[in-house]
Parts: sequence; structure tokens; C-alpha cells
Amino acid sequence: MSVVTRFAPSPTGFLHIGGARTALFNYLFARHHGGRFLLRIENTDSKRSTDEAIAAILHGMRWLGLDWDGEETYQSCNADHHRTVAEQLVADGKAYKCYCTPEELVEMRENARNSSGATRIYDNRWRDRDPSEAPTDIDPVIRIKMPLNGETTIADAVQGDVTKANNTLDDFIILRSDGTPTYMLAVVVDDHDMGVTHAIRGDDHLNNAFRQHHLFAACGWDTPVFAHIPLIHGPDGAKLSKRHGALGVEAYEEMGLLPEAMCNYLLRLGWSHGDDEIISREQAVEWFDLADVGRSPARFDMDKLMNLNAHYLKSADPARLTAIVMAAVTGTTVSPDAENRLIAGMPGLASRAKTTNELVDFASFYIVDAPIKMNDKARASLCDPVAGEMLSTLAELLKKATSWDEAELDGIARRFAESRGLKLGKVAQPLRAALTGSNVSPSIFEVMVVLGPDETLTRLENAVS
Ligand code: GLU
Repeated sequence: MSVVTRFAPSPTGFLHIGGARTALFNYLFARHHGGRFLLRIENTDSKRSTDEAIAAILHGMRWLGLDWDGEETYQSCNADHHRTVAEQLVADGKAYKCYCTPEELVEMRENARNSSGATRIYDNRWRDRDPSEAPTDIDPVIRIKMPLNGETTIADAVQGDVTKANNTLDDFIILRSDGTPTYMLAVVVDDHDMGVTHAIRGDDHLNNAFRQHHLFAACGWDTPVFAHIPLIHGPDGAKLSKRHGALGVEAYEEMGLLPEAMCNYLLRLGWSHGDDEIISREQAVEWFDLADVGRSPARFDMDKLMNLNAHYLKSADPARLTAIVMAAVTGTTVSPDAENRLIAGMPGLASRAKTTNELVDFASFYIVDAPIKMNDKARASLCDPVAGEMLSTLAELLKKATSWDEAELDGIARRFAESRGLKLGKVAQPLRAALTGSNVSPSIFEVMVVLGPDETLTRLENAVS
């Protein structure tokens, strides 16, 4: 059997963390088994679905590198087919038309609430009634016949066997009175049509699985393997919500996270492979299976995500990070040397940043030519009259450097500090301020090498004057 999975978001909001993780698991499971990963936009709720949400979902999927096979499907396009299936089920005696008025349904709800032990709300009023009794002034809904007795067991690939008594399953509506399919019908028909073999989704859908299982059976179709993954919780153990910082995926992109860090983090939320924490996409595809998905909810931890991002920043290709920084500074007057400096200086910058936004900030002194902006601390360390004299003497010594590399520059500064009876730090502080406009930076000798002699000396002269 060739594996087919799908991610089936309802475009009523942005692609949130939980949805992104569901998409990732479906993607990895399909790729691991050499199968297909499909994307189905479940936009049947026309009042709540928006084009903006669809665009955000597609963008988020692409950003995370979760490429789906073929074109995405839009569920609303299949509504006629859903209707035909519902009508066929009526013709086969597996479903029936129900003509209950809203008042009758309210009454049933109340009866169910008042009678202890009642497990169904709908009292099957039209299940076996003669259709000739149908009122002419009411548009019926179509309900599916659920088994009246016994129990249903779902062999869930994550949760194990889960059993439910059939007397808790109402004859639910599959087609509304206006002829539109319900979510339950649309999902089942589309999963069948798309050849879905494994439905991996949040465990908030576990209850639906029992109903969907009977709908698949009524249609004469195999039920896909269900895999219900525990929802993500916040650090306090409560279901993840906005309060915990659960934002749309695009918010993490804007925060300056790298997609590979995000994917690695989401993967470890509920799935594990021994003690491995840093897992590449290739390794994830090789290792991912449903057997290693945990049964208890994972907790979202922003600090862990940030640390993982810092790790990926350190190992990212300098040219790629340079492109990210350059794209972020359009509109600023950049030095013609900015790109070369960034590529050369990137390891020193990236090892200090947790996000690409921070990286852009740290990199600012490489992007422009003198005169550079100074922060308050840098300005203060340059206002000291001794600093000015030190920097101008040091500049003279640097002009005589035999080669412009870190060891030579370090030696010049050290010998100068010693000649004044100072620690190197006392010299490095105003030097750093003059060259970077800040009191924190990569190694100051690395900065000098990246800037080159001309720009270094110009910055020193500016600082002195
Ligand atoms: N559209 C549903 C949702 O966004 C998912 C349906 C499914 O995975 O079966 O929650």
C-alpha cells in the first residue's frame, strides 16, 4: 500500500503552531514511506473562511518547506459530489431525510437533558418513518444511520485502541436543509476520493473519528488509519492559547526565526528519537514514524525554541544570512562593501544572535561607512579625554602594521596596552566603541580585519575628533 496523507486546515484563521505541527507530521510520514502528501483547504464554512487565511496558510507551508504534492484542493469545489453521495446513501437506505422543526429539536435536547441516562439527543424520529408522512413546507436535512447497539473501536496509530458505545452516537446530519454538506460528510468523501490512507490530526478530532468511521462503512469504503496526536499545551499545562504566545506561524517568521529551527522545534513537540534534539530534515524523514509520537501533550517552550534558533543561526550559511540582513536594510544607505563585510563577519555576528532580527541589529556597523551611529555607552567611553589620546596613538601604530590580520593587530594593541601599564580591556573598550558604535561586538580584531585598514583608521579618526 502506498501511503497518502493530507493536511486539511479550515481557513478560518492563520496557520497556528498546532496546525503547522500537524502538517509537518503528515509531511514527514508521507516522505518517510515514499508516499504522497496532499493539502486540502476545508473552506466549506463560507462565512468564516477568508482568502487572507488561505494565503497565510499557503505562505506558512512554503516557508516551513512543507511542499505538498500536486495542486492544493479546495473542499468547496466538491460540494456537488458530496450532495450526490448523501442522496445515494438515502437511496441505499443508509441515510434518511429528517423533517424536524427547530422547535422539535429544542424539545429533544431538553428531554435528553432531563432524562438521566439518555445518551443521544436526536430521538431517531424520522429514522424509520414512512417518507409519505413528510410535511411539504419543510426542507429536510439528511441524517446518517448510526448503529443502535454495540460499540465501535478505532485502532488509532497513536492512541491505541479506543472504544465508544454506539448508543452515544447520534444519527448526525450529513447534508443541511439548504443542500450544503457538513464537515463530517465532506471530510469522509474527500479523504476517500483523494485516496488518503492515513489521517494524522489533532486529538480534538478523536470523537469525530467514530462517526466518520461509520460514514466510510455506509459508503462501502475503507476507513483510513487514524492517528490523533495530543494537542500542544502551554508551559502551565493548559491547552495552548494566545495567552501563551501561540501565534500564527508568520509571527515567528517576523520575529526572525529560521524555518528549519521552527520545524526542528515542532518535530520535538510530541515526537522523539532517543535523546536527539538537533534533527535535520533528512534525518527527520528517515526516522519519523507514528510509533514514536507520544500520548501525552507536549508543552510549548519559547526559550527552547529561541535556543534552537540560535543553534541554527550559528551553523547557517553566511551568504544566506547576508541576504536576509541585506533584504532587511533596504532603504538605508549601505556601504558598497556591506555584502563582503557581512559574509566575512557573519560567523562572529551569528554566534551572538538568537534571531535574524537581532542579527540585523548587530550587523548595522558593517552595513554603513563612517561616520557610524553611536549608542550611549559607546559615546560615554569615547568622551573620556584619555580615550582620545589613546586612540590617536594607537591609530599611528596600526598604520605601521606589517600585515592586516588578527594576530598582528592583537599584538600591536597588546604591546601598546603594556607600554601604558594597562589591561588590554582598557584599550579595547574605546576601540570597540569607535569601530562598532557599541559596547558589545564580535572580537574587535576580527572587526578590524573585516573592515579593512582604511575604514578602520577613518573610524578611529572620527572618534578622536
Ligand atoms: N478542517 C479540520 C480542522 O482544521 C481538520 C479535519 C481533519 O483533519 O480531518 O480542524
